[in-house]
Amino acid sequence: MPIKLTKRQEEILEIVKAAGPITGKDIAQKLSLTRATLRPDLTILTMSGNLEARPRVGYFLNEDTEMNLKVAKFSKQIVKDYKAHPIVIQKSASVYDGIVQIFLEDVGTLYAVDQNGHLAGVISRKDLLRAAIGNKNLDDLPVSVIMTRMPNIVTIKQEDTLMDAAKKLIQNRIDSLPVVREIDSDSHTYEVIGRITKTTITKAFLEMIER
Ligand code: ADP
Repeated sequence: MPIKLTKRQEEILEIVKAAGPITGKDIAQKLSLTRATLRPDLTILTMSGNLEARPRVGYFLNEDTEMNLKVAKFSKQIVKDYKAHPIVIQKSASVYDGIVQIFLEDVGTLYAVDQNGHLAGVISRKDLLRAAIGNKNLDDLPVSVIMTRMPNIVTIKQEDTLMDAAKKLIQNRIDSLPVVREIDSDSHTYEVIGRITKTTITKAFLEMIER
């Protein structure tokens, strides 16, 4: 069972992460505390394996602790800080236009909106491929016929975490989530304000781990 750290112990870990190896005296100075006040915390952190201490060198982070801190940080990231621009198309536009747009914008998914600009559907690459097989007149076929519609669209809000988004992507076996602002939940009316894709999550994860 991992022990629950106090706020001060977490602060110590952050200091050691940034400046380690660092002596107890220097940690105390950074926290404006005496070494004696800090000693019990340093003992707990060392005994619990979070910190390692080497005589005349100082305290440094255990490798597992460093990875745990990064994972903890990753799990706190919110959608708002990572969302990309949504690529939208009018739901009355043709499948042909949808295919052109997916190439022009270099995305895997389009979000269809109605005349009020509210989210009406999701169109993936496979939806477009399926429609293209056996349909000669893609100019006459509106994307509204082939899209996944409300209320079946899985969405995310910008206050939600990237972890929530990652779970939704995996659980629903989809590549992207429209980031929405709720206008009226009863009538499933949403404004699309961004997108989160598997690429967004992978990039954020790499950034956090490599930093
Ligand atoms: P692809 O079909 O190109 O592999 P996806 O796996 O994202 O891409 O899409 C699979 C199916 O799920 C498609 O029919 C698509 O319309 C639908 N879909 C994609 N994203 C969502 C979403 N956020 N909510 C509901 N359905 C979605």
